[in-house]
Amino acid sequence: MRPTGKLHLGNYVGALQNWVKLQHSHECFFFVADWHALTTDYDDTSRLADNTLEVLLDFLAAGLDPEKCTIFVQSHVKQHAELHLLFSMITPLGWLERVPSYKEQQQNMPDKNLHMYGFLGYPLLQAADILIYRPDFVPVGEDQAAHVELTREVARRFNHFYTLQGKLVFPEPQVLLTPSPKLLGTDKRKMSKSYGNSILLSEESDQVAEKIRNSVTDRPKLTDKGNPRDCPVGNLHQIFSDPKTLVYITQGCTQATITCVECKELAIKSVNSHLEPIRERRRHLSQKPEHLREIMRQGDQKALKASEETMVLVRESIGLLSMGSMELPISSAKELPLRVPESSATAKTEDERWEISATPWLERVAKSHPLRKDRPRTFITRRGRKVGVHTAAEHGGLWKFRFTDRPLNVLVLLAEDKERYLHDYILPPKLVQDHWKQFAREDGNVVISVKKAGDGIALVVKDQDIPIQQYKGNYADLE
Ligand code: SF4
Repeated sequence: MRPTGKLHLGNYVGALQNWVKLQHSHECFFFVADWHALTTDYDDTSRLADNTLEVLLDFLAAGLDPEKCTIFVQSHVKQHAELHLLFSMITPLGWLERVPSYKEQQQNMPDKNLHMYGFLGYPLLQAADILIYRPDFVPVGEDQAAHVELTREVARRFNHFYTLQGKLVFPEPQVLLTPSPKLLGTDKRKMSKSYGNSILLSEESDQVAEKIRNSVTDRPKLTDKGNPRDCPVGNLHQIFSDPKTLVYITQGCTQATITCVECKELAIKSVNSHLEPIRERRRHLSQKPEHLREIMRQGDQKALKASEETMVLVRESIGLLSMGSMELPISSAKELPLRVPESSATAKTEDERWEISATPWLERVAKSHPLRKDRPRTFITRRGRKVGVHTAAEHGGLWKFRFTDRPLNVLVLLAEDKERYLHDYILPPKLVQDHWKQFAREDGNVVISVKKAGDGIALVVKDQDIPIQQYKGNYADLE
């Protein structure tokens, strides 16, 4: 939801009320779309931060539970912007220009200059907002179902250009149709902040009462028969009143046996009794701004983690150069087709053996860069050091590690023994530098041989053995 102000009853019955239900049946991500607010309200941002907090308050007051769903602020999760940018590289302009709301909104807001790049691209930002969580469903009302189609097309197009080892990066999310009754504003037009005809979720009971009492109705004269469907007050009854009251006012309205005054008083009672617990939660939360910020921070973190997991896949599938494993906190232990010595493993069973926490290297290997027996990997540390990593199996007491012939600062040799246990040797920059030219060359590769020597292991350089036992598990140079 865009933070253009506090939420009104139209937002509540059109979406928020359903979200509260969905959090119990699905893993959900809900966010305050502050970047989206800028697509139209770019020229006055004086209330943007306050409104973002107000919408967060409305979310929580309405019943979204941070323990059950992820609630966050869009601009705090930069991955949305990154994915939007990457999508913008592959999305034809025509797709965006033909989105109906592009022209409609420009016509509806003639005083506003919406000939902006951000405004044209907002459906693509929306696609990124959705796809970054690789969801199965997008909960929308019937009239918004078409919007999700662009998202599906973008996912299809991305998957067409880029895959990850033959696998698709994005699902094509389905529309999860949710009931979203239309609520008329107090002047009988659609309820909208810009029309000034809305009742806010956070309004006090007397303000709600006053607005309902001043509402336009469907019966100009007492003797006229009306239809609750065409009346803002009747609308409120349909959503907030119990069945008995609804039957009573429907008969009374259609047969002109009750007055609109009586009908309005009943509606005030129904709406206020529904809103009271929401107001109470809001009052409680607004007295604890630090608590609200903590909820936001935790939601931001959860969203950040989930979205970064997608971005790792996206970047790799596109072929962007990785920032280096040190930046990425995820263990690839499950993907590593090698074992480590029993002593380094925290778990006991065959499957669990990959849950390694004691080996720092493994904790630093990016999920997107599973180690392979058959090819070396180069990682770049934050300080720009190139770390070459390769694995080799033992043949007759000898391991041969092949690296491409490019200078590396640190070598990580992962030597697999006959038992398929993995021994890790981290050769420091000086050692690597001193001997780089002396290593054997084969087919343009540098071949580094290591052999068993006594109880330990040694580097073979021009018939000279250099013991490297002291570098086993020594990650100081890597740090
Ligand atoms: S009786 Fe109620 S529903 Fe009917 S027109 Fe009057 S206020 Fe609206």
